[in-house]
Amino acid sequence: QAKRSGGNSFRFYAQEMQAASQQRMELESDMRQALESDQFQLYFQPQVRMDSSHVQSAEVLLRWNHPERGLVPPGVFIPIAEESLLIADIDAWVLRAVCKQIRQWLNAGIEPVRLAINISAAQFQNPRFVSLVKLSLSQFELSADHIELEITEGALIDNLEHARQVLNELGEFGVRLAIDDFGTGYCSLAYLKTMPIDKLKIDQSFIRDITLSARDAAIVEVILQLSKQLGLRCIAEGVETQEELDWLVEKGCEVFQGYFFHRPMPLADFAKLLSSQVSINRV
Ligand code: C2E
Ligand code: MG
Ligand code: MG
Ligand code: MG
Repeated sequence: QAKRSGGNSFRFYAQEMQAASQQRMELESDMRQALESDQFQLYFQPQVRMDSSHVQSAEVLLRWNHPERGLVPPGVFIPIAEESLLIADIDAWVLRAVCKQIRQWLNAGIEPVRLAINISAAQFQNPRFVSLVKLSLSQFELSADHIELEITEGALIDNLEHARQVLNELGEFGVRLAIDDFGTGYCSLAYLKTMPIDKLKIDQSFIRDITLSARDAAIVEVILQLSKQLGLRCIAEGVETQEELDWLVEKGCEVFQGYFFHRPMPLADFAKLLSSQVSINRV
């Protein structure tokens, strides 16, 4: 069967490949345009503390309003940006846009919550990364504790010595560091011992089946214990149901992010949410 249709399916495959690479190239050049013409937009997903049910912080998630394609999700454009090195420009844009936003809130008398920014591996390797972070903060006269940077294990593992140096510099400067998608990368636990990391984000793939799979439950429990023992903060990503929340609370998890509480939202909605909170402590 495979042999008989081999010729056709190969041609079909080749056509598909060509269409895909055509689309990548188009998106890549559109992305350069997008950076200059305000097509990128910050969305905010609240991170909630159980004891106060307050929004204590939020993750910034990038959205692309493409003039013809509509909303392109980051799962599509970030990987393309990562291959083309455009990602460093995008991350720099996000960093600056976030700092600018925090400054606007402060000027308007709104106490902002800490915002977590995703940093790609490529940006993390950028030798000018630390100075870019410092520059963005100082340009808008912000102290370092207004932001948190999310880095994946993959970015650390690529070059451990470089990672250690970057994290030390950022840590000394007062920027908080979170490990995103914890448990899904090539992970040596040794780095937790020696690097100034503040927070582990339990990946949503473990949370998804927490109430169904004993294995996933065990993994999450171990991560919660590990972070407690090491004095790290911990947040569960992708919490979607009351059952998941109940389970996590019982196991001692205190901070949550997920559709059960809030979906990522545009600035106007997030600002409304912020101002509806009586007082917010940046914990
Ligand atoms: P991430 O950093 O792990 O972000 C969490 C993703 O999970 C977000 O997807 C968020 O919308 C989604 N999510 C949150 N709660 C739930 C839930 O309860 N259920 C489910 N099913 N999903 C949930 P999003 O916004 O599509 O972003 C995908 C990825 O794209 C991010 O994963 C991050 O790796 C990357 N990304 C997004 N914005 C940026 C950015 O500004 N810079 C960089 N370098 N990467 C970004
Ligand atoms: Mg993230
Ligand atoms: Mg994540
Ligand atoms: Mg689920």
